Amino acid sequence: KVKRMERNNYRFFTYEMQKEVMEELELENQLRCAIDKRQFSVKYQLKCCPYQRKIVGLEALLRWELGEGKLIPPSQFIPKAEEMGLILPIGRWVLESVAEQASKWLKEGLISESFPISVNLSMRQLMADDLLDDIRNILNRFGVPASCLELEVTESIMMEDPATTIDILKHVHALGVKLSIDDFGTGYSSLSYLRQMPIDTLKIDRSFIQDIGISTQNETIVKAITALSHNLELKVVAEGVENQQQLAFLKKHKCDFIQGYYFGKPVLPGKMTKVLRKAKGNK
Ligand code: C2E
Ligand code: MG
Ligand code: MG
Ligand code: MG
Repeated sequence: KVKRMERNNYRFFTYEMQKEVMEELELENQLRCAIDKRQFSVKYQLKCCPYQRKIVGLEALLRWELGEGKLIPPSQFIPKAEEMGLILPIGRWVLESVAEQASKWLKEGLISESFPISVNLSMRQLMADDLLDDIRNILNRFGVPASCLELEVTESIMMEDPATTIDILKHVHALGVKLSIDDFGTGYSSLSYLRQMPIDTLKIDRSFIQDIGISTQNETIVKAITALSHNLELKVVAEGVENQQQLAFLKKHKCDFIQGYYFGKPVLPGKMTKVLRKAKGNK
């Protein structure tokens, strides 16, 4: 009897496994033609200064819609695209899309030359030989000044090979592109490398912000990261701010900028254009 059960379990297991592998292969194939099928879009989220109630920048976030409203989250397809090497053409598509949008907003006077739109960069993109040329070419092609572009690299990517990263980022920074460390606090930064990184901004990971009012330990981390940033003469952004309590805490501890659902969810360019027009009218 035991033997039969084992056999049944085994058959069931392989069937499930096979199904998973098939689904994964299908997703990979779909990812391969997602650019051609125009399934990608970019949403934009506000970065705000809570003291002057001012919009100070935007973050571009990639979206993949597989048709019929089926959205695949970036947490699922970005690592896959990275594995498959597809992140290079996809990342270039994001940069082009953002540069094109930025040129429109600049022409309409909705953003200025000192208004950065940030784009997330993956490991492979950072290490690619043509990163610098790509950035320069795309900015030139759309007539967008480098100061309108900010690149976000996660702390874990930066610290994987800090010496090489510093070297690459110095060249990118020399173009006039802004740089920030994303998801800070979740990786293992060496403070001496951190000091040498040519960065402008540090973004405190959402996991610490979520715990404001819940865990005094994580509140202490938020305070420490803010103080550290200011000592290194960096601006600090809090990610994932959702409520008034978190905002009050962050203002009390002099966090420079806020990003999160409290000020707005990521939205498509059409909607963001309206938001920017409204903000301009209110000035
Ligand atoms: P990230 O760069 O840390 O982006 C912030 C994420 O937090 C976004 O998730 C955003 O929608 C979400 N978020 C913002 N405010 C709130 C909030 O108040 N509450 C909650 N619960 N979430 C909030 P999203 O868009 O799903 O992106 C996830 C990650 O995927 C990004 O994390 C980034 O690492 C990566 N990603 C997104 N777009 C790109 C891209 O174009 N290229 C690359 N390489 N990675 C990207
Ligand atoms: Mg980011
Ligand atoms: Mg982040
Ligand atoms: Mg994150």
